[in-house]
Amino acid sequence: MVNWSPHPVSVKKRSPWVQVAGHAGNFKVGSDGRLLKKYFECEQQCFVQLMSDSLRPFIPGYYGVTKQDEQDYNLMDDLLADFDSPCIMDCKMGSRRYQQRLKELKAVLEKSDFFKAHEVVGSSLLFVHDLTGKAGIWMIDFGKVVPMPPPLTLDHRSPWVEGNREDGYLWGLDNFIDILTNMLPE
Ligand code: ATP
Ligand code: MG
Ligand code: MG
Repeated sequence: MVNWSPHPVSVKKRSPWVQVAGHAGNFKVGSDGRLLKKYFECEQQCFVQLMSDSLRPFIPGYYGVTKQDEQDYNLMDDLLADFDSPCIMDCKMGSRRYQQRLKELKAVLEKSDFFKAHEVVGSSLLFVHDLTGKAGIWMIDFGKVVPMPPPLTLDHRSPWVEGNREDGYLWGLDNFIDILTNMLPE
């Protein structure tokens, strides 16, 4: 199942950063096109591993933990920073809970060591496009993503049954690509 945020949100050029989903108050805008998200240990561990995984081009750049007003934050790229008047959509992926780039992502996911070894629950794809025709898709939100005890791995397509920890991520992505492909004019 793919969850869509109710409406794509339009952001005026140079307007303050906005979030389309998620918990209010979890984020602060940093300097130099960076974003601070309230620290969760499992999200930090995912980011660290993802920075050296084949999925790296689909992940916001990660710059470690920073403290502000006694609160720890994970520091990452603001994915909107390089867009002009962007429209944004957040799709939470998986059964338990655009385009060419989606197919590229699927191919990379199927080979990623990180993806094989993690239960990906509550994570989203963030879709961003703007007036100039620039578009991108990234994986975000690793706050509930947990490693499988080695040597166990997941295929992300098998139906979920109690105890098998399958998340349906690739099943959702297959469906998503089918839906978008069917929407294209013949
Ligand atoms: P929840 O667990 O309820 O989904 P959360 O508090 O863990 O939410 P995220 O899902 O990580 O938060 O992000 C919420 C929203 O913030 C996203 O829908 C998106 O609009 C924005 N956002 C998150 N990360 C980035 C980023 N790196 N760049 C730009 N916008 C982002
Ligand atoms: Mg989220
Ligand atoms: Mg979250």
